[in-house]
Amino acid sequence: MLDHLSFTDPQPKTIAGARGDWELVIGLEVHAQVASNAKLFSGASTAFGAEPNSHVAFVDAGMPGMLPVINEFCVAQAVRTGLGLRAVINLRSAFDRKNYFYPDLPQGYQISQLYHPIVGEGEVIVDMAPGIARRVRIERIHLEQDAGKSIHDMDPTMSFVDLNRTGVALMEIVSRPDIRGPEEAAAYVAKLRQIMRYLGTCDGNMQNGNLRADVNVSVCPPGAYERYQATGDFSYLGTRCEIKNMNSLRFIQQAIDFEARRQIAIIEDGGSVVQETRLYDPDKGETRSMRSKEEAHDYRYFPDPDLLPLDIEQAWVDDIAASMPELPDEKKARFVRDLGLSEYDAGVLTAEVENADYFEAVARGRDGKQAANWVINELFGRLNKEGLSVETSPVSAAQLGGVIDLIANGDISGKIAKDLFEILWTEGGDPARIVESRGMRQVTDLGAIEKAVDEIIAANPAQVEKARANPKLAGWFVGQVLKATGGKANPAAVQELVARKLG
Ligand code: ADP
Ligand code: MG
Repeated sequence: MLDHLSFTDPQPKTIAGARGDWELVIGLEVHAQVASNAKLFSGASTAFGAEPNSHVAFVDAGMPGMLPVINEFCVAQAVRTGLGLRAVINLRSAFDRKNYFYPDLPQGYQISQLYHPIVGEGEVIVDMAPGIARRVRIERIHLEQDAGKSIHDMDPTMSFVDLNRTGVALMEIVSRPDIRGPEEAAAYVAKLRQIMRYLGTCDGNMQNGNLRADVNVSVCPPGAYERYQATGDFSYLGTRCEIKNMNSLRFIQQAIDFEARRQIAIIEDGGSVVQETRLYDPDKGETRSMRSKEEAHDYRYFPDPDLLPLDIEQAWVDDIAASMPELPDEKKARFVRDLGLSEYDAGVLTAEVENADYFEAVARGRDGKQAANWVINELFGRLNKEGLSVETSPVSAAQLGGVIDLIANGDISGKIAKDLFEILWTEGGDPARIVESRGMRQVTDLGAIEKAVDEIIAANPAQVEKARANPKLAGWFVGQVLKATGGKANPAAVQELVARKLG
């Protein structure tokens, strides 16, 4: 299935320090909000942007005596995500309490899965360039609750809390430290997001905080990473810092670059990197310390006594597996193999599943390459310009397919087709009927074309002389005839007639 891809070795980003080269090592902990209408342990709504504290069940508010009840759909979503990352699904997992006090965490603990996550090892195939990919190993995915939101900037003396997000299900997707540069880190997050959007397990809206990443960065001399890989011994790697809560692909890259250079400067200065949690400040373009490992919380994890271990059945997992949609890599491979598209075009068309669906509706029963050209160049170009998406496109797949049919049947030329597209975009309608009613049909009547050719030749004796001496100049006549016929003359017929008349 992935035969069309070539896999590359890691291509570490190298930074030249004052005392030699350094390589980057990066591991990501991605928090993905589970796409679900209800929270992980309550029936409260997860709708974004609601009136503060309007979606809070008693259990979310940590009321005494309230008991969490696991939401089966959220579990299914985590399993679906695991299957999408070709990961091991653990039929038994368990929930633990991660204890800490914070105003937006009324329970006084977060329910998470430290010791027995629901999903084990998997992989993400990261696209490096068209047709070239890299595997990044996934260590685990666990389910956990999100916290609420403290608001400190609404009042000069008071802080507020909004518990709508409290208890919303998150998947924490932990990668191995296999990512070797800022661009790779961004490509990894983008691929994860794409897969989860295909699966319908996470909306991936980074601005809304739907998808955010903690980015672990360390630096090491060339060769050290290979020794870590060969032995599994982390001590070959440098000490890492964790940059918390990144929700922009651009900022992730900037933060990694800054952080790596900061660490190199410390080491080359004879110091050593302190393992700590840092925050990225996009305005200053730098990371700063949030808390060091020494001041880190002791979370006193222990199994949550309110929840039984989570036992799921293989048959249930198999059902989920049977209902998996075609994922981006498979879809891309199929577009390349069956429709003759380039890797690049297939990549563009499969970036979002809605785009791929639209394209397939246009391509069905038609020439795949021609459909791809129209969708990518005309449709996407126009949608981008106007800030629209295929869901809000004024031109439907059926209409665009109709345009392509008219070209294929020789009813209209490619040039007229663009005018037709414009009419469909602004006025709508049925492509074939528009062509009839507005007289846009291509002239294939050879007599009419011949007349136009004769007129142009008669009116331009000097050009005729030149063209007879240099046949390459015949194109000028073709252009003139097409112009004279309003682009409606069949270009092939014009070409042939011009060539014959010029002798
Ligand atoms: P913790 O539980 O303290 O957060 P983990 O072992 O779970 O530590 O690692 C968290 C993340 O840090 C993982 O994504 C892992 O790949 C990454 N990581 C571990 N060691 C390094 C390192 N030396 N450099 C960069 N990333 C690392
Ligand atoms: Mg961690």
